[in-house]
Amino acid sequence: MSQRCTHLDHVHAVTPKTPNGCEECLATGSGWVHLRLCLECGHVGCCDDSPNRHATKHFHATTHPVMRSFERGEDWGWCFVDELFMEPAPEATAEPAPKAAAEPAPGATAASAPRTAR
Ligand SMILES: [Zn+2]
Ligand SMILES: [Zn+2]
Ligand SMILES: [Zn+2]
Repeated sequence: MSQRCTHLDHVHAVTPKTPNGCEECLATGSGWVHLRLCLECGHVGCCDDSPNRHATKHFHATTHPVMRSFERGEDWGWCFVDELFMEPAPEATAEPAPKAAAEPAPGATAASAPRTAR
């Protein structure tokens, strides 16, 4: 059975911040093998075959779960949390908010919803 990524609400129509390459590698003058694009914030990082693995480091630093390949001709995505490969890459949904059926209804007050975590 194929898994489903539960983080597609983190996927946005992002604009790559550094379309010319990995943000950190450009800053340090380092090199990369392949590029990955964070679909939550538009960060461009290098893949795990690269010396510095900035895409994975970006996930650990920000917990942005979903990235896609930023290589021309490649159309796939990866969820770091589910460790799930998605092809084609997930796209931002146009719908405003899917039916929130994920959380069980709390019996009493919903005052302390842990939703505003930053
Ligand atoms: Zn996921
Ligand atoms: Zn890099
Ligand atoms: Zn990000």
